[in-house]
Amino acid sequence: MSKQGKLKIIPLGGLGEVGKNMTAYEFNGQIIVVDAGIMFPENDMLGIDYIIPDYEYLRGKADKVIGIVITHGHEDHIGAIPHLVSDIPAPIYATSLTRGLIEVKLTRANASGKVQLNTVKAGDTLQLGPFKIEFFHISHSIPDAVGLGITTPAGLVVHMSDFKFDMSPVDGWPTDYAKLAEFSQRGVDLLLSDSTNAERPGWTPSEMVIGPAFNKVLDEAKGRVIIATFASLISRIQQVADAAIKQGRKMALAGPSMLDNVKIARKLGYLNIDEELLVPIDQALNMQDHKVVIMCTGSQGEPSSIVGRLSTGTNRQFDLKPGDTVVLSSHPIPGNEETISKTINRLIRRGANVIYDGILPVHVSGHASQEEQKLLLSLVKPRHFLPIHGELRQLTRHAALAQEVGMSKEDIIVVENGQIVELAGGNVKLGERIPGDYIFVDGESIGDIDHGVMREREMLARNGILLIDISLDKFTKRLLHEPEILTRGYVSPQDAEALIPEVRKRVMEVVNGGGLENEKDIISAVKSYLHEVTKRRPMVFVTLSKA
Ligand SMILES: [Zn+2]
Ligand SMILES: [Zn+2]
Repeated sequence: MSKQGKLKIIPLGGLGEVGKNMTAYEFNGQIIVVDAGIMFPENDMLGIDYIIPDYEYLRGKADKVIGIVITHGHEDHIGAIPHLVSDIPAPIYATSLTRGLIEVKLTRANASGKVQLNTVKAGDTLQLGPFKIEFFHISHSIPDAVGLGITTPAGLVVHMSDFKFDMSPVDGWPTDYAKLAEFSQRGVDLLLSDSTNAERPGWTPSEMVIGPAFNKVLDEAKGRVIIATFASLISRIQQVADAAIKQGRKMALAGPSMLDNVKIARKLGYLNIDEELLVPIDQALNMQDHKVVIMCTGSQGEPSSIVGRLSTGTNRQFDLKPGDTVVLSSHPIPGNEETISKTINRLIRRGANVIYDGILPVHVSGHASQEEQKLLLSLVKPRHFLPIHGELRQLTRHAALAQEVGMSKEDIIVVENGQIVELAGGNVKLGERIPGDYIFVDGESIGDIDHGVMREREMLARNGILLIDISLDKFTKRLLHEPEILTRGYVSPQDAEALIPEVRKRVMEVVNGGGLENEKDIISAVKSYLHEVTKRRPMVFVTLSKA
């Protein structure tokens, strides 16, 4: 079959970073979007709740987007949907569990009426305009995940989202190897595949290996066991439930996201948890300690999560008590290591026995390691390869693995967000560059926070602030009274007391010397003085009023 037309692959998120995965495919002016996730802020992104992809490219083309296709229900694949659909209300296609988790999310954001949801299942074929999409099952750390075969007149693309080749998955449903082989037979023009673990040698262990670890913890703990993980790690929740039954403990769920997700996953048949196993949290708190396991969020040490609050003694519903065992069942997301470490220390200080990966295997990755990535490449035999999901170092490593299994360098494209890739005539080349940046979400404010604001927050946090309040006579331009000066987060109150009179003197010199054309003169005079004395430069602000 001869190849016709040009398919644009538009990476909007997840390339050059971990999280906020989002890719658009455009053919003949029609577009499908694959995934729309969020990313958690790094330590230096102060006050930011989360980050969504910059989908500016799609904004002017909302009527061209004919579908949003979702591979699985993790936050880094569905978290930005409530934002996306308010600008681009295209119909969503997802498997049953993924759809359920999206519904929970839309309801919470008061956006459930905004968009049409459609259920697909592994094995289905969906024709959306020029895109023929074949859904096939993949194993991951959440049930009902799919990969996509996307056929257009320009050729066949296989979009492999998060996956692992788990031979004994918790839900008993392995990756559809036969389908991958079939694609290979047909000839795959381009493979996109998850690079998260491209630096990790060997095979990722099966999810099954953590069952014994949970059994051991629940068996040996004398008191309550509190297990933290992501609310969307549905397979993990199943394993805790299984261990709880074995060890004669009741299970309670704490926090709205955990409750909502478990409810929908049970309803749809993806979690097999007996009614008798579950008790409401307030009942669990009144039971004998060794009869209880509590599941909650906060495995990344997020300050607003239940474990985050337990570590600081600010959780409303219940507090830690001596004898409690806290299990953190997840790997640190890159950038979170420090927060997690501090949280662990605080939990220990409050009397908890803390178990995390490294003490016992209470977590395995949901992502393929090097041998699995190579197996996928060998199985699919793509003509071209585009590594996705990962920082540049992981994308590059993944590209090197592809070379190890025989691909030539010219057929592998490593790009970051915003660099369009084009598939035409069976060949792949770079297209135009479009925005592929961060959109910061801070409470109700979406996208108003730019890198400038971020830099200011960083400066404030690092260096503190010095405020100078000046009142001038409108006519004589002379000071009406002495400037008021205030510092925060810059020097100790004692040091400030010593500094302020001198700062005040400098300000008065500048103003009364007629040197005041604008506030900048004052700021630079003050800053150079402060740097001279303290070797540091706080942010200096001047408020100027004239009367
Ligand atoms: Zn995932
Ligand atoms: Zn992911």
